[in-house]
Amino acid sequence: MGYDDNNVFARILRGEIPCRKVHEDEHTLAFHDINPQAPVHILVIPKGRYVSIVDFTANASEAEIAALFRAVTKVAEIAGVTTEGWRLLANIGINGGQEVPHLHIHVFGGRKLGPMLT
Ligand code: 5GP
Repeated sequence: MGYDDNNVFARILRGEIPCRKVHEDEHTLAFHDINPQAPVHILVIPKGRYVSIVDFTANASEAEIAALFRAVTKVAEIAGVTTEGWRLLANIGINGGQEVPHLHIHVFGGRKLGPMLT
């Protein structure tokens, strides 16, 4: 799957669509999901043009990879969920249920989460 520059997260990164920003650094942006599935539901994305974690790990720099995972942890700290526990999730491709073709890590928390989705 090639990268689509008109996907919704690319448009958020270009400022064409608003978002409720949680965190931003040189390589990442984090914002609240528009349709939250838990009291805390934040999306963390790399600023680079990566479709999925496969694309990302193959092509991103060490700095970009480190920044994404540090941003995920930072977002959990900002959201105040690290003591009670939380979940990170990345949907990949058709069987994984990925809707937006720009890599994103979901951060869920704020309630006791159920078992993994099927
Ligand atoms: P996926 O199913 O691809 O893993 O997750 C895509 C997520 O993006 C969904 O949870 C959906 O609610 C969220 N989303 C889709 N469009 C927008 C948008 O325009 N703004 C924000 N903040 N989230 C969006």
